[in-house]
Amino acid sequence: MNERIIAPEQNYSDEELQLRPNQLDIFIGQEKLKENLKISIEAAIHRQESLDHVLFAGPPGLGKTTLSNIIAEEMNSKLHITSGPILDKGSDLAGILTSLQEGDILFIDEIHRMPRVVEEYLYSAMEDFRLDIMVESGANAKSISLPIKPFTLVGATTKSGSLSSPLRDRFGLHFRLSHYSEEELSRIILRSADILDIPLEKPAAGLLSSRSRGTPRIANRILKRCRDMAQVRADGIITNEVSLKTLKMLGIDDDGLDEMDRKILLCLMEKFNGGPVGLSTIGTAIAEEKDTLEEVYEPYLIQKGFIKRTPRGRMATHKAYKKLDRPMPTGSQEELF
Ligand code: ADP
Repeated sequence: MNERIIAPEQNYSDEELQLRPNQLDIFIGQEKLKENLKISIEAAIHRQESLDHVLFAGPPGLGKTTLSNIIAEEMNSKLHITSGPILDKGSDLAGILTSLQEGDILFIDEIHRMPRVVEEYLYSAMEDFRLDIMVESGANAKSISLPIKPFTLVGATTKSGSLSSPLRDRFGLHFRLSHYSEEELSRIILRSADILDIPLEKPAAGLLSSRSRGTPRIANRILKRCRDMAQVRADGIITNEVSLKTLKMLGIDDDGLDEMDRKILLCLMEKFNGGPVGLSTIGTAIAEEKDTLEEVYEPYLIQKGFIKRTPRGRMATHKAYKKLDRPMPTGSQEELF
């Protein structure tokens, strides 16, 4: 583990750490974001100040944690990693905040899942580098104020809409990560194959990039499964043929959809006549959490044009019916929107 990183509750595998780009210049894609972040980092270094607080928003696996690591590297700072759901008591956060050294980076993943009572500690910490805590209770209750060393909070969220505005407003830098193009993903896959010493033919990288839902984490995962297939069922080289076999084994189709995506679409069509229907109802019908549907599956299905979001709920589109070879119901609500 990198000495710069303090993450008692997380374990990253060696391969995972190897694959993480550790400088902005080698981070592929998100060009606009990189340019803006680079300017802010250079300016902060120039002023010898800590970087303004940063909020990264976007679906899982697009590089939020990686970018927080890069910020720590570029700022030559220590990175403390924690996450919203772990911080269930104010004292947990207070302990971390008071242990920070000047210029340290505190990364809170899934910051939207932090309980409100804990979140409130962050307000004065972010704004004035001060921690206001209540001691004793009832008539003796009083608030004491502890100084904190200037630090940078980096928050990551898959649901920026769930962040309270007092918290959101305290981040000086807001960045939204978007899905990667096939060309960018292809470069990411070739880079990962190179680092992990996996023989990969270039056309196969192109094929895999088109099936990775615009997401580096998925691209790397599929690459590793292809490595297994190539080692066991071929001569170790990932060719187009090996890639196709692996994708088939993983149930990933030409559009990059997997079993769960198809289950969602089928549920919409067969149980709810194509919608509109709420995400919680779909979740109950297929035994999946609403949040997972919303954060992991839906963005890609919407991006690919298989689902439409309407004021009354989600709807399967013409494209979805065509894909799954189902007749569009007569009088479908889709035309109305
Ligand atoms: P998030 O925090 O948004 O869920 P991560 O930062 O954990 O995503 O990234 C998931 C994986 O994808 C990591 O293993 C990382 O190495 C890889 N990755 C993400 N973005 C990039 C990129 N732009 N270039 C290369 N690899 C990337």
